[in-house]
Amino acid sequence: MTNNNVPRIAIAGGGLMGRLLAWRLSRQGLDITLFEAGDLSTPGGACWTAAGMISPLSELVHSDRKIYQLGRRSLALWLDWAAELESLSGRPVEFRSAGSLLVAHGQDRSELSQFRRELAGKLSGDISAHLQTLDAAELQQLEPALENFEHGLYLRGEGDINNRRLLPVLLSVLRQQGVSLRERTPVACDSYRVEHQEGKSQFDCVIDCRGLGARDQVEGLRGVRGEVLVVETREVALRRPVRLLHPRYQLYAVPRSDGRTVIGATEIESDDMSPISVRSTMELSTALYSLHPAFAEARIVETRVNCRPATMDNMPYIHSEPGLLRVNGLYRHGYLLAPALAEKVEKIITEQLLQVA
Ligand SMILES: Cc1cc2nc3c(=O)[nH]c(=O)nc-3n(C[C@H](O)[C@H](O)[C@H](O)COP(=O)(O)OP(=O)(O)OC[C@H]3O[C@@H](n4cnc5c(N)ncnc54)[C@H](O)[C@@H]3O)c2cc1C
Repeated sequence: MTNNNVPRIAIAGGGLMGRLLAWRLSRQGLDITLFEAGDLSTPGGACWTAAGMISPLSELVHSDRKIYQLGRRSLALWLDWAAELESLSGRPVEFRSAGSLLVAHGQDRSELSQFRRELAGKLSGDISAHLQTLDAAELQQLEPALENFEHGLYLRGEGDINNRRLLPVLLSVLRQQGVSLRERTPVACDSYRVEHQEGKSQFDCVIDCRGLGARDQVEGLRGVRGEVLVVETREVALRRPVRLLHPRYQLYAVPRSDGRTVIGATEIESDDMSPISVRSTMELSTALYSLHPAFAEARIVETRVNCRPATMDNMPYIHSEPGLLRVNGLYRHGYLLAPALAEKVEKIITEQLLQVA
C-alpha cells in the first residue's frame, strides 16, 4: 500500500484487457502501474489487428452460451463506457449498435436457414426478438449497397467499435487519471511482484493481461492466426457490419467512418505472425468482390496479421490467487467479452483489497 493506504496494482500488458482494467481500477482511485512490452501508441497485440465486432448472436452459433451471456453484458457496458470515454477524452471511439447483417448468394441460401435453425436451437425458442428475416426490399432499405442480394438476416442489437480509435482514447484517459505508464518494459508476473530488466517491483496485486505473452504461465494457451485486409473506396458505403455466409469462404466487412472497410478474417491454427498469404488475400478479395462488384476497384490500404490468445476450450480464463490475477484466452472475442470480464475482475479486486484497506 502507498502511505495513504491506497492499494498499488500492477497490470502487465497494455492491450485491450490491460487498458480497460487500468481505466476501470484507476477510476476507483487505485494506484495503477501499467507495464507494456512494446509501444503503447502502436500496440503489438491482437487488439490493434482486430475488427472490433461485438457480435453475441453471430458468435453463439459457434460457441458456448456463456460467451453469448458475457457478450450481452458487454454490449450494455460498452454503451455507457464508450460515452464516458468520449466525454473524458473529447474524442470519438465510434461505438455503434446498429445491428449486423448476414447475407448469402442465391445458391447458398440454405446457409441462412441453417444459421437461423442453429440460433433457434441455441436460444431454445422464439428468436424473433433477436433476428429478422429480410426479403430483397427490406434488405435494401436497411443496407442500400447490398443490391445484389435477395435474402438476408438482420441481427438486432449487435454492435462494433473502432479499435483504432478506442485504444488511443483509453491511453489518453489513463494519462489523465495519473496511471503510471511503463512502455517498452516486458515483465514476468508473480504473486505481489513483477520482474523486469531493472529488477523486481512489489505491489498489492498483479494482474496479468499479457495475452500470448503469458504462454509460459497459462497452460494450453495457444495462438490462432487471423489475417485482415483494410480496403478503401467511396463507391460502396455499408452502414453496419455485414457477414457473407458461403460454404467455403466466410467473410465479414466492417465499415469505418473514414471510407475504409475492415475485411476479415482467416482463422488458422498456427502461431505464425508472418505477413498475409497470397491465398488468404485472394479468398478474402474474391468474397469481398462478390459482396459488391465496386469493391473490385477498392484500394487495399493495409494488411494485418496477428494471433488470437486462445485456451484449449476457447473459453476466457480468469484465475485468482492471493496477490495475482490472470485474465486471458479472449480468443476471437476480445471486444465482445472485455467489459464483462473487467467487471468481474473489478469485483474480485474490490473484495480482496478495498474492503480490507
Ligand atoms: C484478425 C483478428 C480479428 C479479430 N477481430 C475481433 C472482433 O471483431 N471482435 C472481437 O471481439 N475480437 C476480435 N479479435 C480478438 C481480440 O483482438 C483479442 O481477443 C483481444 O485483443 C485480446 O486482448 P488481450 O488484451 O487479452 O490481448 P492483446 O490484445 O494481445 O494484448 C496483450 C498485450 O500484452 C503485451 N505483452 C505481451 N507480453 C508482455 C510482457 N512480457 N510484458 C508486458 N507486456 C506484454 C502485448 O504487447 C500486448 O500489447 C480479433 C483478433 C484478430 C487477430
